[in-house]
Amino acid sequence: MTNGFLMRVAVLGAGVIGVTSAYFLSRAGHDVTVIEQGHHVAAGASAQNGGQLSYSYTDALAGPALLKKLPGIVLGRDPALNINPPLDMHWLRWSLGFLRQCTAAAHRQNTASVQQLALRSQALMEDLVETTGITFDYRKAGKMVLLDSEKSCRNAEQSSAMKRDLGCEIELISWQEARQIDPALDAMTRPYAGVVFAQNDAVGDSQQFSRALANWLEEHSKTQFLLNTRVTAVGRDHDGKPVVHTTRGKHEADAIVVCLGSGCQQLEAVSSVSARIYPARGYSVTLPPGESPNTVSITDLSSKVVFSRLGERIRIAGFVDFVGNTRSRDSHRVRGLIGAAQRVAPKMADYEAPEIEAWGGFRPMTANSRPLLYKDNDSGLVYNAGHGMLGWTLACASGHEVAQLV
Ligand SMILES: Cc1cc2nc3c(=O)[nH]c(=O)nc-3n(C[C@H](O)[C@H](O)[C@H](O)COP(=O)(O)OP(=O)(O)OC[C@H]3O[C@@H](n4cnc5c(N)ncnc54)[C@H](O)[C@@H]3O)c2cc1C
Repeated sequence: MTNGFLMRVAVLGAGVIGVTSAYFLSRAGHDVTVIEQGHHVAAGASAQNGGQLSYSYTDALAGPALLKKLPGIVLGRDPALNINPPLDMHWLRWSLGFLRQCTAAAHRQNTASVQQLALRSQALMEDLVETTGITFDYRKAGKMVLLDSEKSCRNAEQSSAMKRDLGCEIELISWQEARQIDPALDAMTRPYAGVVFAQNDAVGDSQQFSRALANWLEEHSKTQFLLNTRVTAVGRDHDGKPVVHTTRGKHEADAIVVCLGSGCQQLEAVSSVSARIYPARGYSVTLPPGESPNTVSITDLSSKVVFSRLGERIRIAGFVDFVGNTRSRDSHRVRGLIGAAQRVAPKMADYEAPEIEAWGGFRPMTANSRPLLYKDNDSGLVYNAGHGMLGWTLACASGHEVAQLV
């Protein structure tokens, strides 16, 4: 219970962030209503993401390494990154803010801050799984980040040392050692200079998690989910009480938690927050295992492709496209993703499978890669948004934190 009062809390958005917020709010004793425009829970960015619970690899996107590569990226020389947004004020402000975060000091601070949140998430996730008993192909698989140069290894050793100081179990191991841990690596196209290994990182299907947790909440608490209901405005009624306006009428609450991900952009009342979030399109395909499927989750750093084994499926995800809200190049980018995956790991998945589940989603990116977790004192709104590349990883700690803020 927060401040000693039990409240009626409206959570806006039923992605993984909204559902975990509902869980921790309900555990604090509040009556929660989650309002979601989609037909289902977790139909946005939380649907078919990479599945990595990347508790030890929280490196901010903005940093000196990316800055150096930026001219090539803008010229279209990096197939994994595409920068071609509409040149409006939103992009100009956001991208200037991003460039300011590209110093070594900012990169270190942003990475460390998200790292602490991720470690709290890890403990809270284990507790949640034990309490609820929900299943979602969750497994402490460990994670490897494959590095293709000595320079990347030196940088990774520095950043791993900082993470160990924060409590992470992470180490730089040789290619030989990595192949002993996961023999599937023998079938990679080429050897690597080194590998960052985090044995406690996990994998899980964030859509299955969100849906199972929503069902559990409906069964075990007073939480309800209003699906097919779009939030059109938020404000206060004549008594000063928070009110949510939706396509299905007015919903009164004592507190409102905004978990709209990239959807913040569509809501005028949260424009101060949406200006700080830019959508970055990414893609995934889900395939049957190939001849040599991985057990550890794998990130190939140079191609920016991740491979996660979720039960008997291989989820391959990647690419970061700053192209505004367009989805027009999805099929082209998905083909590119499959090609990139097949080039580095030809036997990991069955690329010739007759049915390939392809997907695209908008990561809600902040310039500094830190999520927005705070209460706005003027409007009274509590924000839990802007989790970028790591919303699945950070969901539990973020939900737990906002439950203390209402
Ligand atoms: C290709 C890809 C791979 C990724 N891989 C990983 C990974 O391996 N590990 C990791 O930790 N993270 C990963 N992520 C990031 C992660 O998926 C996101 O950070 C996370 O899903 C964001 O969750 P969210 O709940 O904030 O947003 P969403 O899941 O988008 O949820 C927001 C919800 O709000 C709803 N909504 C929006 N507007 C309204 C409105 N007006 N009224 C009512 N409802 C509304 C939407 O329908 C949606 O359901 C990946 C993302 C992508 C795209």
